[in-house]
Amino acid sequence: MILIVDDSRENIISLKKVLEKNGFQVDTASSGEEALRKVLKRYYVLIILDVQMPGMDGFEVAEAISGYSKAKETAIIFLSAANTDIKFITQGYSSGGLDYITKPVDMDILLLKVKTFYTIYEQRRALNEMQKALLDEIEFRKKAEQLKDEFISIASHELKTPLTSIKGYIQLLERSIDKDDIPTVKSRFSKVQNQIEKLNLLVADLLDISKIESGKLKLNIKDFSVDELLDNIIEMMQQSYPDFKFTITGSVNEKTFGDEMRIEQVIVNFITNAIKYSPGTNEIQISKYICNEKLYIAVKDFGIGMSKEHQEKVFNKFYRVEENSLRFQGLGIGLYICEQIIKLHHGVIGVNSKPGAGSEFYFYLPVNAIQ
Ligand code: ADP
Repeated sequence: MILIVDDSRENIISLKKVLEKNGFQVDTASSGEEALRKVLKRYYVLIILDVQMPGMDGFEVAEAISGYSKAKETAIIFLSAANTDIKFITQGYSSGGLDYITKPVDMDILLLKVKTFYTIYEQRRALNEMQKALLDEIEFRKKAEQLKDEFISIASHELKTPLTSIKGYIQLLERSIDKDDIPTVKSRFSKVQNQIEKLNLLVADLLDISKIESGKLKLNIKDFSVDELLDNIIEMMQQSYPDFKFTITGSVNEKTFGDEMRIEQVIVNFITNAIKYSPGTNEIQISKYICNEKLYIAVKDFGIGMSKEHQEKVFNKFYRVEENSLRFQGLGIGLYICEQIIKLHHGVIGVNSKPGAGSEFYFYLPVNAIQ
């Protein structure tokens, strides 16, 4: 946008007409004071400023404008009588550029200058945008690097914990074997198995992450029964968590196409999270149904829940709700992997939650779209 400042209406009209005819957007002010008010409110690429005006003259206006942050990059073309000395005004004016044209105005020269300033302005804007994009990229990479470092340190800790337990139980196991104490041997043996299973899951998650990063996470699509899959999952969960009450509502009653093992991984992840983040409660509700050719599965708990802000981020890689991170162990990759699996199935994953009231994690995917 160009601002023409001139006390003569005829000059304004003729300049405006020529500029608008050449595709420029034009605003006008008929005095220095009006120009200052306008410059305060909006950004102009260029101001065409008559030097001789009653009240504030053009030089005074330019000097005042030089202090405005909005006009930092604005160029000025003075319209002056021949031989006016404009040198002094260039001092202290750190604008996008200064130039002048003597009156009577040669429209061709004016247009040439206006176009030059606009080209410089466009180039500068493109450079600024590029610089901003580069800075954003650097910032993004720095954050990713930092997250990766944190992740490696948490992952090593998470891997070390079951390993230390396994080492301890094996020593105890040795003693119970020496004493021929079979019941204790059995109990310690099952504890070692639990820890190995934990380790196994952790390593599987880490492998999945690396597969996702290299685009190698592939699905093995077949038809399967969701009802059977859920019954098996619940049976397995009930054995591992006998104190919990798992209820299933709805039914699917038809074959679904998808990667059964990966879908199982998502549901198991939802349920283990539901158990982990719901201390002091013992109920998990699972819903399953088909609606508009889509399979819908949700896992609802009555645990700690989370705020809207966290709900938007829990599927991000390495994201953990900070205020809970000391209380609950984890790597912040489970839900990220779930999201990738559901995306590969062309589905949608999400969460509804309320702090203190519990969470419902869900996904839906087309039943037949991928075969
Ligand atoms: P992890 O549990 O290993 O930290 P996830 O990717 O599975 O990683 O979950 C990311 C974060 O989402 C968790 O750290 C936790 O803060 C939050 N979260 C996940 N499931 C629940 C849930 N059912 N209730 C409350 N918070 C949850």
